[in-house]
Amino acid sequence: MGKKILALFMCILLSVFICGCEADAPIEPVDFSLMPESAMSVHYIDVMQGDSILLESEEHYVLIDAGEKEYGQTVCNYLDDIGVETLDFVIATHPHSDHCGGLKKVIDTFECNSFITVETDQSTKTWIDVLLSVDENEVNYIDATVGETYSFGQASFEIMGPYSKSYDNYNDYSVVVKAVCGDTSFLFTGDAEKNAEKEMLENGADLKADALKVGHHGSSTSSCDEFLDAVMPSYAVISCGIDNDYGHPHTEVLNALAFRGITTYRTDELSTIVAFSDKKDITFSYVNTEMVVEKTQAQEKEDSKSQTEKPTQKENTTTYASYVGNKNSKKLHLSTCQSVTDMNEKNKVFFDSKKEALDLGYTPCKNCNP
Ligand SMILES: [Zn+2]
Ligand SMILES: [Zn+2]
Repeated sequence: MGKKILALFMCILLSVFICGCEADAPIEPVDFSLMPESAMSVHYIDVMQGDSILLESEEHYVLIDAGEKEYGQTVCNYLDDIGVETLDFVIATHPHSDHCGGLKKVIDTFECNSFITVETDQSTKTWIDVLLSVDENEVNYIDATVGETYSFGQASFEIMGPYSKSYDNYNDYSVVVKAVCGDTSFLFTGDAEKNAEKEMLENGADLKADALKVGHHGSSTSSCDEFLDAVMPSYAVISCGIDNDYGHPHTEVLNALAFRGITTYRTDELSTIVAFSDKKDITFSYVNTEMVVEKTQAQEKEDSKSQTEKPTQKENTTTYASYVGNKNSKKLHLSTCQSVTDMNEKNKVFFDSKKEALDLGYTPCKNCNP
């Protein structure tokens, strides 16, 4: 009897160990300019503390959120580099700025066919600006309704939530979307919290999916056990910023994912993450940011070359270059900040203006406040 218990204990220990290893499974970076062929690709775009996800199938595109306002340009640049001209659907999960902030820029820049969201009483300028740009650009407005299905290329997505018309918390209004391509499926829950998760479960929603975009940046306010058991994903992606103020992702959630043997990828660790579906299997990869940084700098050089009429002025500004970014942490510092003195030379990126750095996704250091 004692031996049996010991054997069982060893089995549990071994499976936890195997699960733990699986969660750290290394993945290969993908060359940004040479994305492999796939029936559907899903791009979890790095917008630091926020969400922005692009779904693609046969050059049909769906965008879910676009991060904070200052990342609108980052998302536009990414879409541009992928070759997007028209977005079939733009989904604003809910009116929080870390999801909807960048959408105005996207809607003003790209041809958008339909805009899907839920009605709330949110009246912040950021949200009103998004709705105004939907209106001004004559984008077809769709009120998210559970059960509605929309197709794009070889794939489709279904609205899985929200079920109610009013909540105490804007996060629970999140439009939940399940995308399906052949036998593979992806669930995106915005910031939906446990209350909304339980509501979906109570309504018998078919939440099973191969890959889960973990709710609310991995906060413990989301991802209850029953929900994770219903989704039962093989993969999880957490979209959050390095050293964010909320401590996302929370340890409870990481443990709950690891305990279930779910391989977890994080944008704060890998930057932009891409999943490729061949209708049967999913392969995860991440965008080689080194190449993106090099490309952006090369583009900047091209741009500055075209402004040949004022080369001395450019030189002068460079001498004064008061902003230094860290390529790895994506933090922006004043050149006088102690962090710059301590920074590895190969991680340094110099900027003439704060805006230039913010557009590239850098966030200001809290110590030197550039
Ligand atoms: Zn959020
Ligand atoms: Zn939110």
